[in-house]
Amino acid sequence: MSIDAVAAPAWILVVDDDLVTRFLVSEALKQAGFCVEQVENGRQALAACERIDFDLITLDVMMPELDGFATCAELRRRPKGVQVPILMMTGLDDYESINHAFKVGATDFITKPINIILLEYRVRYLLRTSAAMVSLYDSERRLATAQRIARLGHWDWSQGQACLHLSREVCEMLGLDPQAPEVPFRVILERVHEKDRKILAQWFEEIWQGGGQARAIRHRLVDAGGGVRHVQQQIEIVLDASGRPDHLYGTLQDVTDLHQAEERIWQLAFTDSLTRLPNRELFKDRLDTAIKLAKRHDRQLALLFLDLDNFKRINDTLGHNVGDHLLQATAERLKSSIRANDSVSWNKAEEPDESIARLGGDEFTVLLPEIQRSEDAANVAERIQVSLSRPLALDGHEIIVTPSIGIAVFPQDGETSETLLKSADMAMYSAKHQGRNLYRFYNAVLNEAAHKRLTMETQLRKAIERNELSLYYQPQLDLPSGRICGVEALARWTNDLLGTVPPVEFISLAEETGLIVPIGEWILRTACRQAKAWGCGCGVDPIPMRIAVNISVLQFVQPGFTGLVAQILEETGLEPVALELEITESLLLKDPEGALRTLWALKNLGVQLAIDDFGTGYSSLSRLKQLPLNRLKIDKGFVSEVDSQPNDAAIATAVIAMAESMGLRVIAEGVESEAQFQFLKAKHCDEIQGYYLSRPLPAAEITTMLHQRLTPHGDDG
Ligand code: C2E
Ligand code: MG
Ligand code: MG
Repeated sequence: MSIDAVAAPAWILVVDDDLVTRFLVSEALKQAGFCVEQVENGRQALAACERIDFDLITLDVMMPELDGFATCAELRRRPKGVQVPILMMTGLDDYESINHAFKVGATDFITKPINIILLEYRVRYLLRTSAAMVSLYDSERRLATAQRIARLGHWDWSQGQACLHLSREVCEMLGLDPQAPEVPFRVILERVHEKDRKILAQWFEEIWQGGGQARAIRHRLVDAGGGVRHVQQQIEIVLDASGRPDHLYGTLQDVTDLHQAEERIWQLAFTDSLTRLPNRELFKDRLDTAIKLAKRHDRQLALLFLDLDNFKRINDTLGHNVGDHLLQATAERLKSSIRANDSVSWNKAEEPDESIARLGGDEFTVLLPEIQRSEDAANVAERIQVSLSRPLALDGHEIIVTPSIGIAVFPQDGETSETLLKSADMAMYSAKHQGRNLYRFYNAVLNEAAHKRLTMETQLRKAIERNELSLYYQPQLDLPSGRICGVEALARWTNDLLGTVPPVEFISLAEETGLIVPIGEWILRTACRQAKAWGCGCGVDPIPMRIAVNISVLQFVQPGFTGLVAQILEETGLEPVALELEITESLLLKDPEGALRTLWALKNLGVQLAIDDFGTGYSSLSRLKQLPLNRLKIDKGFVSEVDSQPNDAAIATAVIAMAESMGLRVIAEGVESEAQFQFLKAKHCDEIQGYYLSRPLPAAEITTMLHQRLTPHGDDG
């Protein structure tokens, strides 16, 4: 709409003390169709402005009482006079007066004598720009109001500039001074929640690089009081001629309420309102993610499916209120038994609580996202059983509930969330049928094995203090001289519940659980003490020169291992040279340099080193060359067939020859027959060990054996 088309004629105030000029101007303006009011000085002008809202004022400069400059300044101070265009009329056209006129707020000025024809157009022009200004001011005010209601602000940012220009609303949202709207990005970032800073900075960085795809981002702001607000940034990018981002225009909107509403909706959709645990949907989602991770990292995970025995009866007889409280208490107990569990490792990102869910009714699930062995899951199940079976006082009733738990392990019991849930569910039913308050693995074999291992582990933990461990010793024979040159200490374990457990079983369990460290120390100390008692190392026939002790990799890599060996030697008084440590090549696999350092430290201590079970695994003679070894033990697997299998015979022969060339002594273990013995002797094997000579025997029997050999009638066997 054109400004001139406004229906009502504009009101103009003409202020001049000179009657002629005042009359001329007024008449000319009336002729042009304006409504005109005339006054003869500043004071009258101010009074007139109180009565009428003028659309324009023409103001003479030189007037008695209040001159034009003072009148103009005063008008601008009044609310009604802020916007009105003021046209100064002056005979003075020097620069100083013009400057003064603008300073006090004049819109424009015109010099006397007045060109009456020009005046009309000057006035029309001023009215038009004034109307445009008013409309601009109005729309700005409307925009500001709308933005305030929408909690929306805007900003813009030019390429290469440190500062963004912020709107008043953005300044307010960021807690910055709206009077200083040029703000460095760094300062803005300081107002962003610590955890969102990196992401936001990256987002802008990518946008400036021309790469960023997302045009909107949500993040949090922290206000001065520490309150957190959620905001949404939305941007538009202006490109330069070469297609690179040149300028960014953005809006910032406070979406805290929206965020809270979304959060609430999420909670309604994905959590169980009674226990606040994740519901089936969320749990399935978590399980899917955990399965993906387990697949990627080649790991196992376990799913526990749990159902309360007799819940229905409690619910029916004591009422739903008690039932609800029972479920809530169960959720709490589950959380604490999971949290207290150390055999399960959690990814940093996930909270243990998130791994428990209520599927409905009295059915709960627990996800163990990363387990080493299925026993870990059994451990957790036992912990849950203990925790849930404690009596519970609810609404004046003493209640005891027990859970039945089914366990499914990924990948063997299912590779998808559906199959795993189904397997765990079936396992739970089987537990229920077998008598309640039980846990069962889906895989029955695993079930039994896990149970047995768990019992074994519990028992093994107490084996040292209960004095259940002992050592047997197996003699080693030096072939050229026919004397007993050493004995190998072999661990034995007899337990009330499990009977005699073979070393291959309990040693490997001890290695997996780390129990080998204390057990190994006990073995080393006991063996050294026994060797000292026999007088090993003294060189008097038939006292064996040395005692061989098996050392597991886990013991060997303990930081203080060399120190421990030194300490035990010192403590028992055994000569270092009388101690031989049997190690396997596998200890070179993980950290060859570290292993080499330890081997040299042990060598420098004066103890002897032997490679056990040589020929199995990753045997490499060339690598062995670098190690400070004394002896190779040819594995009994080769020895058992040396007299019948040409292949084994060839290997044994080659090992003996090569070891000799490397300056190593060779001992063959597992020698059972005369034929094997003769073969090895013929090939110049240095030493032998095996049933052919003697089975491993308790210390006392070895003592007897040595005494018999001491007497002239002793059996040289
Ligand atoms: P190893 O160190 O190779 O021990 C030799 C195994 O061969 C012993 O089995 C021994 O009884 C057996 N053996 C000896 N002569 C014959 C024979 O003529 N024929 C046959 N078939 N077997 C023979 P054991 O005592 O059952 O120990 C098995 C493995 O358990 C050992 O193999 C060793 O790896 C481990 N072990 C035993 N005691 C200890 C220990 O104190 N510490 C550690 N770390 N491991 C041990
Ligand atoms: Mg051995
Ligand atoms: Mg061996």
